[in-house]
Amino acid sequence: MSIALIQPPTLPLDEQFAELSRLIVAPRAERAYEAEAFDRMSWRQLADHGLFKIGVPHELGGSGGTWRDLALAVAGVAKGSDDLGFTLSLIAHVGLVRALVLHGNEWAHKHFLPPLLRGAVGATALTETRGGSDVARTNTSGRRTEDGWRLNGAKNHITNAPVADRGLVLGRVPELGRRDITLFLVNFRAPGVRRGVQEELLGLRTSPTGPLRFDEVFLPEQAVLGAPGDGLQTLYDVISFDRALYGLVAAAYLEPRLDSVLDFCEQREAFGSPIIDHQYVQGRVTDIRVTIEVARAVSLAAIDSLVDRDPEASLRCSVAKLVGSEGLVEAATNLMRLRGHVGYMRGESTRDVQDALGTLIAGGTSEMQRKNIMNQINALRGAR
Ligand SMILES: Cc1cc2nc3c(=O)[nH]c(=O)nc-3n(C[C@H](O)[C@H](O)[C@H](O)COP(=O)(O)OP(=O)(O)OC[C@H]3O[C@@H](n4cnc5c(N)ncnc54)[C@H](O)[C@@H]3O)c2cc1C
Repeated sequence: MSIALIQPPTLPLDEQFAELSRLIVAPRAERAYEAEAFDRMSWRQLADHGLFKIGVPHELGGSGGTWRDLALAVAGVAKGSDDLGFTLSLIAHVGLVRALVLHGNEWAHKHFLPPLLRGAVGATALTETRGGSDVARTNTSGRRTEDGWRLNGAKNHITNAPVADRGLVLGRVPELGRRDITLFLVNFRAPGVRRGVQEELLGLRTSPTGPLRFDEVFLPEQAVLGAPGDGLQTLYDVISFDRALYGLVAAAYLEPRLDSVLDFCEQREAFGSPIIDHQYVQGRVTDIRVTIEVARAVSLAAIDSLVDRDPEASLRCSVAKLVGSEGLVEAATNLMRLRGHVGYMRGESTRDVQDALGTLIAGGTSEMQRKNIMNQINALRGAR
């Protein structure tokens, strides 16, 4: 008699990384938050488990798969890690990895990408002291020299800057004239790169942000993403993926929190019954669930549009970011309110509110998402 071999079912990617993050990141999350420290140990361990290689073709050192797979893995980290800051650091990193794969030249694929797949930390530096929404006003500039480029300028509020090894830096090449915005690939360990002190933020304390300064930093000629002068066009694709990830992460982060607050509402009693029996309480619970469903659905639709190069992709990614971050703030407030006074005491609920607020600004403010949605509506109507 032959015995049929039953293969254990493989968990979907989001569940795999949720489970790994429960084991690796979550146990360190609170201590990291108190210390305002980046959890590099967990970062390396997730890298060892192949997180940064997902979506990257085999020939570039990746494990293959799709960008949707990568997005689902990041959502898994959001769900299992108990650490929104860590997850936002991850968004900055995987956004850079995807940008390098899709827009990088041979030099970028050979020299810049591999360390980022193995666990080096990436960053995308757009914002400067005088403004982040209007990125095209950048003062950072690249000057051509005989052997490459010299980069000068300064950036502010950059996720991962205090710990990052390499990143994308938006600047201009004045000699190009009007169309001069260019994306430079910079090794942050190179001479001439200086990091300022880590910023003190209201929340997201495990995602270190800070300034960067570039003084005559030498870059090889090939250290440009896309073509010189085409930076804005390339950037729109890069930030679109980030925006969709914000929405997906918001949904995934809320899932276990909804479960936990439901446990609380079933145990806590008022007026002779568990508070979950009261309709106004149910209203807050259902609002959180609606946010989870809507944010997840629009974000996945946005990622699919981006992969398919659908003309509506940019619009959908902004919708995902807007729905995700605004929904996350409302849901975090609801989670706090459902717990009454205990929710307002310093702890998980207050941390959620503080962390969620940061997502209204990081990745582009809600006003800028609305502005892009309106611009896209007009562009799509004009194209008809
Ligand atoms: C936690 C965190 C992480 C971050 N990480 C990064 C990073 O990794 N890389 C990076 O480059 N930046 C990063 N930033 C910076 C962020 O991208 C900028 O703060 C953001 O784009 C807004 O820029 P700003 O602060 O200069 O505000 P401003 O651009 O000065 O805007 C101020 C206010 O005016 C509003 N506003 C501006 N223009 C318009 C308009 N046309 N219509 C309507 N309202 C408008 C804005 O919405 C905002 O409310 C991060 C920020 C935070 C909080």
